[in-house]
Amino acid sequence: MTSLLSDANQRLDKALQYVTLHPDAIERLKTPKASLTVSIPVRMDDGSLRVFQGYRVRYDDSRGPTKGGVRYHPSVTLDEVQSLAFWMTFKCAALNLPFGGAKGGITLNPKTLSKFELERLSRGYIDLIADFIGPDIDIPAPDLYTNPMIMGWMMDQYSTICRQITPAVVTGKPIPMGGSLGRETATAMGAFFTIQTLMPKFNRQPSSTTVAIQGFGNAGAVIAELLFHAGYRVVAVSDSQGGVYATQGLDIPSIRRTKEARRGIQAVYCEGSLCNRIEHQVISNAELLELKVDILIPAALENQITAENAARIQAPFIFEVANGPVNSAADAILEANGIQVFPDILVNAGGVTVSYFEWVQNRSGFYWSLEEVNQRLETKMTQETERIWATAQELSCSMRTAAYVHALKRLAEAIEAKGTQDDYKS
Ligand code: NAD
Repeated sequence: MTSLLSDANQRLDKALQYVTLHPDAIERLKTPKASLTVSIPVRMDDGSLRVFQGYRVRYDDSRGPTKGGVRYHPSVTLDEVQSLAFWMTFKCAALNLPFGGAKGGITLNPKTLSKFELERLSRGYIDLIADFIGPDIDIPAPDLYTNPMIMGWMMDQYSTICRQITPAVVTGKPIPMGGSLGRETATAMGAFFTIQTLMPKFNRQPSSTTVAIQGFGNAGAVIAELLFHAGYRVVAVSDSQGGVYATQGLDIPSIRRTKEARRGIQAVYCEGSLCNRIEHQVISNAELLELKVDILIPAALENQITAENAARIQAPFIFEVANGPVNSAADAILEANGIQVFPDILVNAGGVTVSYFEWVQNRSGFYWSLEEVNQRLETKMTQETERIWATAQELSCSMRTAAYVHALKRLAEAIEAKGTQDDYKS
């Protein structure tokens, strides 16, 4: 078994100490159901040909067609995609969505390709995985460095191959192509609902709660703004080039506006008029993680908190907006230090929940208002957060283990419903 996937499996082993499942279910969940590796030839703008490695993994489909994003990043490997597909399986079950888990990715630095090259790459990827996906088989979505435009190309390419418009094959599409209102903000909005549900349990009020956020993209920038407007003091944010820290709190809407005009966070803060008004410090991503704040939100990449830096983390609450930002070795250290980690499979599940809403709307042909989407998202996130919290209290275990136990019970029910060895013994 590969390293990232074996790390993910350690979470499964931990949860299994708290719940008795049929051995058939455990055996089934240890490995992915199907993994596809493709080589995508792309004609570059200068006429040369480059071949990119791509992957799609369907981890488990016991509860329904599989669902998961596609990421474009230089660190994408089959191992990483398999572990992300594992997490998607548990995330969909934790939120009680009728989906199994999947993930996809292409190994590249998307910033080095032109828009035309990215379009040819995205369409080429779909050409090669078309038989592996479908509205009732496996439904891709956006992830790191993929966006609605890329999802639109993918849906269009699949529809061309099938000779019928098939919006439900991909979620996270542009609105005119069948996308759902609220999808772009859904991950952050879902995380915001978990924070709003859980913080009162620790008698925390927004005005006296400081927050540091690593990553200022689709998820990180939106959660920063939601928390800012709810009265939390967001004192530090960062992107891939570094971050800024101001103890009195940052003006998130203005950082967002300027960042959207394509400048780095540091430049925003040091060149703008805010620089003159608010005393701030330029910090590295590593320093941001170790700040003395109340809530730490990793919203960038996986493996940011490991055995190497876990002992230096000072925030008492970590909300995992990124997938897998804390590895299993760090889990043990954080738990020993009394730090509460609210896990990715719950906290960032707003994205896949609204993806599910998009799939439902595509299949029914009836589209919801933004208020309806956000209302249904709030109901779902709050309900499952409360259930996982109750499981953690009942079993006296971490929220991560409780989330896995919660998901495992639903997965095991579906696996067992298809028959176990007991049914065949007699
Ligand atoms: P994004 O591409 O929009 O943004 C990523 C952000 O991380 C950017 O600001 C980038 O500058 C920053 N970053 C990159 N490398 C970094 C580094 N080494 N240190 C600090 N910052 C760094 O991606 P996103 O959609 O916001 O996704 C972020 C995380 O959230 C990923 O782990 C993704 O899997 C997870 N997630 C996203 C969604 C979604 O719907 N967007 C859903 C679930 C989970």
